[in-house]
Amino acid sequence: MNMHERYELRRIVNAAGTMTYLGSSCVSPRVAEAMSSILPEFVDMRELQRAACGIIATATGSEAGCVTASAAAGISVAVAACMTGTDLCLIERLPDTSKDDMKNEVIVLKGHAVGFGASLSQMIRLTGAACIEIGTVTQAGGYQLRGAIGSRTAAVVYVVSHHTVQSGLIGLRDVCAIAAERGVPVIVDAASEYDLRGFLEAGAQLVVYSGHKFLGGPTSGIIAGDLRLVRACYMQERGIGRSMKVGKESIVGIMEALLQWQERDAGDVRLEEEARIDYALLHLGALRGVRVERVADPTGNPITRLQVWLDPMVCGLSAFELSNLLSAGELSVRVRAHEAELGFFQIDPCNLKAGEIELVCSRITELLANPSRPELPTRNATDFGYLSLLRWPD
Ligand SMILES: *Cc1c(COP(=O)(O)O)cnc(C)c1O
Repeated sequence: MNMHERYELRRIVNAAGTMTYLGSSCVSPRVAEAMSSILPEFVDMRELQRAACGIIATATGSEAGCVTASAAAGISVAVAACMTGTDLCLIERLPDTSKDDMKNEVIVLKGHAVGFGASLSQMIRLTGAACIEIGTVTQAGGYQLRGAIGSRTAAVVYVVSHHTVQSGLIGLRDVCAIAAERGVPVIVDAASEYDLRGFLEAGAQLVVYSGHKFLGGPTSGIIAGDLRLVRACYMQERGIGRSMKVGKESIVGIMEALLQWQERDAGDVRLEEEARIDYALLHLGALRGVRVERVADPTGNPITRLQVWLDPMVCGLSAFELSNLLSAGELSVRVRAHEAELGFFQIDPCNLKAGEIELVCSRITELLANPSRPELPTRNATDFGYLSLLRWPD
């Protein structure tokens, strides 16, 4: 069955990266098979999460782990766990945190209060916690963290992501050392980071990963960390975690994806991705008014992207307009355009399939050769799709 034909869905060529609005990852046949084999079966979900616990612990070097509906759910669940511990009465009481027998403040560096499609602080506040931001957007130091920790501090949430401010902020190791002085657990949002071990090694108590980003699994999240806190995470299914419940197929899928990730030849994957970038560098670099540049991933993940600068005076199109035209076609080419108002977009090689980098380059060449734009959608870079949401489902 071809779902794209059946439901008249446009085919997507994904040069944007791993985006939840594009269905995140294309799972491998191995992961898809694992998922379809559990779907027609019953299973004791507790046994299944116990098996997942073992696989997560091995992959991350943690004491324990559990699977959640997504990384965003994992953040809410991890925060809730730090507030309630394994006390079922407190778990059932959330999001009411008004009685003073429960810690209800979560510290976040102001430069980490990001949006990834929704806001990090909202995922924290969903539990009933108050989100206490420290420092300024571009500066946060140890003294501010020490000053903010008090008797009601339940956790510190530390974000590792290209979304955050990348300089002037206290590092994870120092945050963990200071929080440990006061017995406060540190939760790391590492949703799209490749490093499965470093954040726990740096001293974090819980680390949250997305199952459907770099790992190539189904929609899911992973929490890895200290046994007592992970148990408290699992127990949130008796409370607010229930509305974020993960299904058996996703648990099995992310387990298989984790095994696959550990067995993959990272060097081979990288070479293939680099070859795609080489191709685009050569073909797009030759176009008039276009400047291309390889750029490293801002948080050190092993990904090279191609930054494509457009001179609108020469090209007749801005980077923002071109990215919209690429996306508007029957064959919808998506580039990484979240900074397009600065005059460039990026090509991310990670999710391109065989023959697709050629398609991306020929589509760009075609549109630049004929920059008449009758069908240019009226959009603006900073309404973040709001106007088009108001027309949904159209
Ligand atoms: C993508 C992302 C999330 C959300 O991950 P989901 O698994 O899609 O919920 C959270 N935090 C950061 C930094 C992200 O990049």
